[in-house]
Amino acid sequence: MKYISTRGESPSLNFEDVILTGLAEDGGLYLPEKFPEFSQSEIASWSNLNYQELAYKIIAPFVDGEIPKADLKAIIEKSYSTFRHDGIAPLVQTGHNEWILELFQGPTLAFKDFALQFLGNLLDYILDKRQQKVVIMGATSGDTGSAAIEGCRQCENVDIFILHPHGRVSDVQRKQMTSVIEKNVHNIALQGNFDDCQKMVKSSFADQSFLPDGRQLVAVNSINWARIMAQIVYYFYAGISLGAPHRAVSFSVPTGNFGDIFAGYLAKRMGLPIEQLVIATNDNDILHRCISANDHSMKPLIHSLSPSMDIMVSSNFERMLFELYDRDGAAIKQLMEDFKSGEMVLKEEALSKARQLFSSCRVGDEKTLSVIQDVFENTEYLLDPHTAIGLQAARKTRRSMTTPMICLATAHPAKFPEAVKKAGQAKEPALPHHMRDLFSREEKFDVLENDIKVVHDFIAANMSA
Ligand SMILES: *Cc1c(COP(=O)(O)O)cnc(C)c1O
Repeated sequence: MKYISTRGESPSLNFEDVILTGLAEDGGLYLPEKFPEFSQSEIASWSNLNYQELAYKIIAPFVDGEIPKADLKAIIEKSYSTFRHDGIAPLVQTGHNEWILELFQGPTLAFKDFALQFLGNLLDYILDKRQQKVVIMGATSGDTGSAAIEGCRQCENVDIFILHPHGRVSDVQRKQMTSVIEKNVHNIALQGNFDDCQKMVKSSFADQSFLPDGRQLVAVNSINWARIMAQIVYYFYAGISLGAPHRAVSFSVPTGNFGDIFAGYLAKRMGLPIEQLVIATNDNDILHRCISANDHSMKPLIHSLSPSMDIMVSSNFERMLFELYDRDGAAIKQLMEDFKSGEMVLKEEALSKARQLFSSCRVGDEKTLSVIQDVFENTEYLLDPHTAIGLQAARKTRRSMTTPMICLATAHPAKFPEAVKKAGQAKEPALPHHMRDLFSREEKFDVLENDIKVVHDFIAANMSA
């Protein structure tokens, strides 16, 4: 399987190399040259598979023999052995034909563990085979950093440096990152905001001359193809659990960078009968405005109660545009060029395709709180604010009551106790058992000036020989 850039100008890569890259050199994102498709009878034959077995079926065609079968199976097995629920992605019913897919049973309590546990083990395997070491550099406003650190803490060939804005991530999120004290894990609290962190990482990828020869940066944000690929699995798993392919299912997805919902779109392309795919946004609603009014324009960032979706521009939307424009790399390059002015307009044909594929809905803070409250009163089930947005969007846009609506629960409520308390729940949601002692764990992080030279010197001085 070859991987190509959405802007059509970079050379294609094989699977292992695509995992070790960030953006393509032409500025695009990588996608497989062609998507595997599964027949209805093949999907029907998977109903007895557990999560790991199903993951192998979905992932193997993308790897396309570059990793031997037994090794790939072992990587998958190891990646989900850290989840604390045997169902890996259990379903909970909250209403008539309405389901919550709990994607927060991994080590850091957010869905990002699904991809980052896998990516950590995959990197370890590839680098070991190649006798190569890499440096991971990533910026986080919370969830990505902890999931990436947890995924890579045991990787001998990876030094991981995660930048978070000093004093601006929640206590739970900071503790989850900084209490990992392995030698290859480095938390940098940057004296700046999240944007500064992201800019720093971007410029470092663009000019990697601060690294010694033979060392390169690897991306852990959702521009990395492995992240999207691993997320396709739970759409199939949930769909099959609720009767697919013999009946269709729908999904509602709280969306930020468009990685998670893009995986849902791919599940559909690959043969899962999905009736409705709902893009749920908070007040940072560029995707909702784009689908509903062809308004893909930048607006100032709003800090909401669902911080993991506080994103001005969704990086993975470019992958979707590539599909909507029939894989015309030159057109995407032009569109992204236009967008530098702060706005892009989709051509009519692409917009109408997008509208056939997706419903969209924006849910503000006030509504988010009332949904948490309402669902708790009626079911005693506690939602985190991101999940509440997905559920509300599902209820608003739902077209069929006979098709199961599956709402992706992207985080555990204990990760966002402030919102839950604001929603009027008297007691704070408890951390799961394995994290009870989180606040008494030793912390390790370095506060650094918002200066690229300082950060690069720190990385050079702290990475392994
Ligand atoms: C990252 C994240 C999202 C957004 O996912 P995308 O793939 O960026 O769309 C939603 N909810 C939570 C809790 C997250 O951590």
